[in-house]
Amino acid sequence: MSQQTTASTRMGWGLIGASTIAKEHMVNAINAQAGHHVQAVFSTSQERAENFASVAGIPKAYDSLEALLADSQVQIVYISTTNELHHAQVLTAAAAGKHVLCEKPLALNLKDAQEMVKACEKAGVVMATNHHLRNAATHQAMRDLIASGAIGQPLFARVFHAVYLPPHLQGWRLDQPQAGGGVILDITVHDMDTLRFTLNSEPIEVVGMSQTASMAQQGLEDGVMAVVRFANGTLAQLHDAFTVKNAGTGIEYHGDKGSLIGKNVMTQQPVGEVILRNANGETNIELNHHNLYVKGVASFCDAVHQRGPVAATGLDGVKSLAAALAVVKACQLGTRQTIGSLDSEGV
Ligand code: NDP
Repeated sequence: MSQQTTASTRMGWGLIGASTIAKEHMVNAINAQAGHHVQAVFSTSQERAENFASVAGIPKAYDSLEALLADSQVQIVYISTTNELHHAQVLTAAAAGKHVLCEKPLALNLKDAQEMVKACEKAGVVMATNHHLRNAATHQAMRDLIASGAIGQPLFARVFHAVYLPPHLQGWRLDQPQAGGGVILDITVHDMDTLRFTLNSEPIEVVGMSQTASMAQQGLEDGVMAVVRFANGTLAQLHDAFTVKNAGTGIEYHGDKGSLIGKNVMTQQPVGEVILRNANGETNIELNHHNLYVKGVASFCDAVHQRGPVAATGLDGVKSLAAALAVVKACQLGTRQTIGSLDSEGV
C-alpha cells in the first residue's frame, strides 16, 4: 500500500544515490515544490552521504538503503545511481511503499524495466521516469504545433545531440558496460523519449552504426548515428556523441506543409529557440522558458497528490529503453531491428 498522500501532508524525499544529477539539478527541483523537501540521502559510502547532505542541507545521511526506506519521514524516492542498480532499488523501494522517480535508462534490459513498472503498480505507488526534455518549453511548443497541423504530415525528424561529455562525468559512462555505459543508453534514450513525445507516435524499427573514437573503452561506443521509423511514417535521423565540442544541439521536424527548427534544445537548461518555416516565411515561436527538472518534479508531485499525470511514466521509460536497446543491437549486428509494441498490458 502506498503511504498517505494528501495535499496537506509535508512529504519527504529520499535520494538513492549521491550523484551529480541529484546535486546539480534534482535537490533544487524537489525543494522548489511546496510541501516537499529532500529529507535523506543514501550513498554506499557514509562519508559521501554526509558530505552530500551537508552541502545540500539534507537532514539525514544513510549508507544503508534499508535504513533510508525504513525512515518514516521518507515517502518518495529519487533514484539516480548508476544504471545497473535502478532495477533492484526500484523493486525494494516499491515494496517499502515509496513513490518512485527513477532515472533513465530505467534498466539494462527490457525485462527488468517491465518488472519495475509492474512492481510499482502492484505496490500502488506512483512511478515516473526522469526524461527531462519533454518538460522543456521548446519541445512542448513543437509537440503542440505538430498536433495542430502546423507542418502538415510529419515526414522527417533530425536530432542533433552530439555533445562533449564534461570532464567530471568522464567515468562509468565511458568504461563500464556492466553499469550501462555508452552514449546510446545515455543520450539516444532521451532522443527516443523526446521524439515519441513530440510526434505522438511510437518507434517501430531502427538501423544504426556506432563509433568508438577517443573516449569510450571496454567495447562501449562514444558516438552513434541511427535512423528510426515511427508508426506514423516519420523517419528520424539521430546523431549522438560524447566526443564533439562544437556542434551545438538541435532538433528539426519536416512535414509536407512546413518545418520546425529547434535550436539549442537538447540540453538540461531552459534555453533554445523554435522557428516555424512555411510558405509564409519564418516565425519565431514565443516561448516561456522554465526549469525542466522543476517542471518534471512538479508533475510527479501532482501525481502523488492525485492532481494530474506524471510527465513521463514508467511505461514511457520502458519504451525509450526498448528503442535505445534496438539501436544498440542494430549497431552490434549491422541489421535492422524491429521494436515490438509495448502497451500497458505488455508491461
Ligand atoms: P554520478 O557518476 O555522478 O553518480 C552515480 C553514482 O556514482 C552515485 O550514486 C555514487 O554512488 C557514485 N559516485 C559519485 N561520486 C563518487 C565518487 N567520488 N567516488 C565513488 N563513487 C561515486 O552519475 P550521474 O549523476 O551522472 O548519473 C546518475 C544517473 O542519472 C544515471 O542513471 C544517469 O543516466 C542519470 N542522469 C540523468 C540525467 C537527466 O537529465 N535525466 C542527467 C544525468 C544523469 P553512491 O550513491 O553509492 O555514493
